[in-house]
Amino acid sequence: MTAEVIYGSELAKKLRADMKEEASLLRNKGIIPGLAVVLIGDDPASKSYVKGKQKASDYVGVDSELIELPDTTTQEELLVLIDELNNKETVHGILVQLPLPDHIDEQIVIEAISPEKDVDGFHPISIGRMMTGKDTFFPCTPYGIIQMMKSKNISLEGKHAVIIGRSNIVGKPVGQLLLAENATVTYCHSRTKNMEKYIESADILIVAVGKAHFINGDHIKDGAIVIDVGVNRIEDGSLTGDVDFDSAKEKASYITPVPKGVGPMTITMLMHNTIKSAKKKNGLA
Ligand code: NAP
Repeated sequence: MTAEVIYGSELAKKLRADMKEEASLLRNKGIIPGLAVVLIGDDPASKSYVKGKQKASDYVGVDSELIELPDTTTQEELLVLIDELNNKETVHGILVQLPLPDHIDEQIVIEAISPEKDVDGFHPISIGRMMTGKDTFFPCTPYGIIQMMKSKNISLEGKHAVIIGRSNIVGKPVGQLLLAENATVTYCHSRTKNMEKYIESADILIVAVGKAHFINGDHIKDGAIVIDVGVNRIEDGSLTGDVDFDSAKEKASYITPVPKGVGPMTITMLMHNTIKSAKKKNGLA
């Protein structure tokens, strides 16, 4: 079997065009979706992610305000800024680009963002609401992954979803969203023993580890859906995923590439969440 490739880049393009129309309708009503992005320091990867978010905002019609601060910024200064943004009428979404410098406690910062503006979906209230099946902002990467599978009319109900990686931003929440879609979920992580046996039984395999070509086609079940979240820069300077695409695609029924896979969907769902927040604030969602 040779898998059909699910290009997140194509789905993102379509969804962003729809969002542009929606944002334009809101603007006609005087509602201007606003996103504040806080970038601390000059990490090249963070800068490039932020640039992607600015570009998407410009296209969709979200007013994006970039606040760049030096890496000497104290936690107290950042918390003061977040408080200001929490109270700023024109800001519907607040995103603090992670990772933060070591002297700043990420969790304290995440919890300082008002849940009403938590478009990253990382606040414990957002996570708790997601886990209990309530309306909230879903974390963007997991939400994008679900949209990619739905765009191919893949039924998730009753499927065995195996997730490799249990981070708070990808692994754990994608499992919760799959559970909400009635999949049966198994988490694997660095202490999992005999991981092959889980991979072999996976109808859906989601890999979010951060190690280039960590998984190859060897243990993938025929017809499995393979979602590669990893983004790894290799020696030749190019980006590659956690999955060896060429061998995995011979086993899978659907597979996502890197680049042009999950990445573009993450930013797209950030736009979705920001527009949703603007609508909620105005009683339209
Ligand atoms: P993370 O916080 O570093 O978590 C990595 C996970 O992989 C951990 O749960 C870890 O297990 C597990 N792991 C590490 N070595 C393993 C092994 N040998 N066997 C099984 N599990 C192992 O990473 P993350 O933030 O979730 O990101 C994962 C990857 O996705 C990275 O490449 C990142 O760049 C990428 N990413 C992409 C997007 C996107 O939009 N495309 C968004 C976010 C992240 P333990 O918990 O036991 O340590």
